Amino acid sequence: MGIPLLQKAFVGAYVVRQHLAGRSRYPLVLMLEPLFRCNLACAGCGKIDYPEEILNQRLSVADCLGAVDECGAPVVSIAGGEPLLHKEIDEVVAAIVARRKFVYLCTNGLLMKKQLARFKPSPFFVWSVHLDGDEDMHDHAVCQSGVYARATEAIREAKTRGFRVNINCTLFNNADPERVANFFDAISELGVDGITVSPGYAYERAPDQTHFLNRNRTKTLFRDIFRRGRGSRAWAFSQSALFLDFLAGNRDYRCTPWGNPTRTIFGWQRPCYLLGEGYAKTFRELMDETDWDAYGTGNYAKCADCMVHSGYEATAVQDAIRHPWKALTVALSGVQTDGAMAREISLERQRPAQYVFSRHVEQKLAEIRKPETHSKALAPACKRA
Ligand code: SF4
Repeated sequence: MGIPLLQKAFVGAYVVRQHLAGRSRYPLVLMLEPLFRCNLACAGCGKIDYPEEILNQRLSVADCLGAVDECGAPVVSIAGGEPLLHKEIDEVVAAIVARRKFVYLCTNGLLMKKQLARFKPSPFFVWSVHLDGDEDMHDHAVCQSGVYARATEAIREAKTRGFRVNINCTLFNNADPERVANFFDAISELGVDGITVSPGYAYERAPDQTHFLNRNRTKTLFRDIFRRGRGSRAWAFSQSALFLDFLAGNRDYRCTPWGNPTRTIFGWQRPCYLLGEGYAKTFRELMDETDWDAYGTGNYAKCADCMVHSGYEATAVQDAIRHPWKALTVALSGVQTDGAMAREISLERQRPAQYVFSRHVEQKLAEIRKPETHSKALAPACKRA
């Protein structure tokens, strides 16, 4: 089972409480990025090309827990960068688990086996290991050989020690459905508890811009994959049935970017995990002062091809709460993989892309360099004193 009953019950109760309180916008998953530094340099990654001074920054344990408390989401996904490069990440995880929130610790798996002893198995804690396909596919995607072998070795060891382990798999336009299906079979045999699958988002700063999926290709690819995953081959996806149905082109959902708010060393990122168009100092400021209608497919050119879970999973969960019979139908009969697709959102009125990201990086660099300049300026005065 991709999402255990305990987690479904906790998250379901949280969502019902938000609806009863009359809240139309609320977070489901906090995306916590305590650092951008990574020990890989994947071609499809939009996070690793920061200057060294930014890559050297970390959110402290207090900053991480402050974000968790301020946001209140029942699930926290710790990403990066590579979170296992953060020296206090075990403390962060333990403190979030103690708050009875579900923690997904995303990792490329390279340091995982060595660091398993820093963590304790818990129903509230999940290793989420990045694997973009079989050995050749994955090592090609992460631009380094041997990564798949080390990650799967760590997964085996983690399962032996009683941890919950998921994989997160990002697919690009060169994905072959049969090969992806075979990979899901193999990874299921390894004993993973869940599979999170996502189409690659076209990060404007990713080194490889040629392999991102558009929405039509995404829907066809997922239909071709899901068609192969029926009967005895059924896979445990760690995503809602309606989100998977959306990926296969059967739902015309609108993005819910506030469902997965993102906290990084820059602050609370606007509007979502994928786009850095500005930063709020507090979670409240993010929720109240972001022009949410300016984003989403059909509203903004950078969102045109997006079908990523960080934007659309929360939409699917809200739909399931409002229309449980829809979710039940898909859960019982499976995702529809043929027939007409839902109407696509028109892009005619979308506003053009703005390229504002470098400004935030420059601002942060100025903040980091300020104390240095200040202490250099003070030094001669101290000597004179
Ligand atoms: S569609 Fe939503 S999740 Fe996707 S990039 Fe735009 S705002 Fe972010």
